[in-house]
Amino acid sequence: MFSFQEAGLPLPLVRSLERMKFTTPTPVQAEAIPPALEGRDILGSAQTGTGKTAAFGIPMIASLLNNTRGSALVLLPTRELAVQVQAALKQMIGRAPITTALLIGGESMPRQIQELRNRPRLIIGTPGRINDHLTRGTLMLHDTRFLVLDETDRMLDMGFGIQLDAILRYLTAKRQTLMFSATLPDNIIKLSKKYLNDPVRIAIGSTTATAENISEELIKVSDADKYSRLLEELERREGTIIIFVKTKWGAEKLAVRLCRNKHQASALHGDLRQNKREQVIDGFRKQKYRILVATDIASRGLDIPHIAHVINYDLPQSPEDYIHRIGRTARAGADGDALTLLAPQDHAKWKAIQRMMNPGEKQESGPRGERKPDGGQKPRRRRSRSRQGSRGGPARQAA
Ligand code: ADP
Ligand code: MG
Repeated sequence: MFSFQEAGLPLPLVRSLERMKFTTPTPVQAEAIPPALEGRDILGSAQTGTGKTAAFGIPMIASLLNNTRGSALVLLPTRELAVQVQAALKQMIGRAPITTALLIGGESMPRQIQELRNRPRLIIGTPGRINDHLTRGTLMLHDTRFLVLDETDRMLDMGFGIQLDAILRYLTAKRQTLMFSATLPDNIIKLSKKYLNDPVRIAIGSTTATAENISEELIKVSDADKYSRLLEELERREGTIIIFVKTKWGAEKLAVRLCRNKHQASALHGDLRQNKREQVIDGFRKQKYRILVATDIASRGLDIPHIAHVINYDLPQSPEDYIHRIGRTARAGADGDALTLLAPQDHAKWKAIQRMMNPGEKQESGPRGERKPDGGQKPRRRRSRSRQGSRGGPARQAA
């Protein structure tokens, strides 16, 4: 059994993991870290909240510490994720002499150029801005020996495919590449053939499953009653809440409305300036306010352990986003609640979500925890359901 203490990790890293209270590796870490330490490429998929950041962070930082030269590059789809991953990696680096640079859009170019002058050995960023630096000649990647693509499916969804190709042209083939993705559809497999060299393929759990400790609930409402129903639900719940809506404008409007009703709420969406976006997330992280109203910009990867409830005020456009949204709660083994307010026009979308979550099952209209409009019925826990074979049995084979 793989352990952080006995894996031969550089001592500063072992100390950092102790400080972070990472005592036992999660399944994806146990599977990915040993081959990555041996220098293998990795193609990994694992449910959200299962510790993928450390699954690539630990071997990457070990490699940086074990070699005096060479740098590493981590690519992520959104600025928020880049900020979060940089923070997590900095914790793992601790006081070891590895400097990092964060290259994301919406932030001052000169400051980033200044950061790059310090010759950081670890670059974290989004593909668009990294490409800007590469074409301007302010970023050199010829000595990058370690590449990580995180949330790769999302990067492709967001149209970063061409940007990734362009970045990859600056890198030497003599590198180690770790690619993580929530799902492994055909376009990812194709990309992996292009970018990875004989990767070890790791798939933990089902990518269409959510954490077992999330209890899901559905309430059918009319559009006219939706807002008042939301207020009731906010009253009866304790702890922090993220509410997902469809549009940027809808997020603003709902946050303002909630504030008028004496709730502490802020909106997060792609039209906000970058420093505002960071301020909003930082405030929520520090629990300066209770409710974050967000578009799907916040559905992926955000790791805010205290989020107790996810409320789908509007349904997401794509069924996959439902999984990502509700995965913002019940992080790292905690409990969480996910509530969906279902308006009549969204029934078809809801069915599509159910089909994806429970393939091969006959679809009833209700999910596990459907609550009658008059309340009452307790949400059923998903953990009571048996999901044959998919959980716990990590499938690992050479790709
Ligand atoms: P993912 O990228 O798979 O969604 P993250 O890397 O964001 O998940 O990790 C989710 C949470 O689990 C984080 O808060 C992280 O600190 C915590 N975590 C990760 N690995 C461990 C571990 N081995 N022991 C304890 N907590 C961990
Ligand atoms: Mg992640």
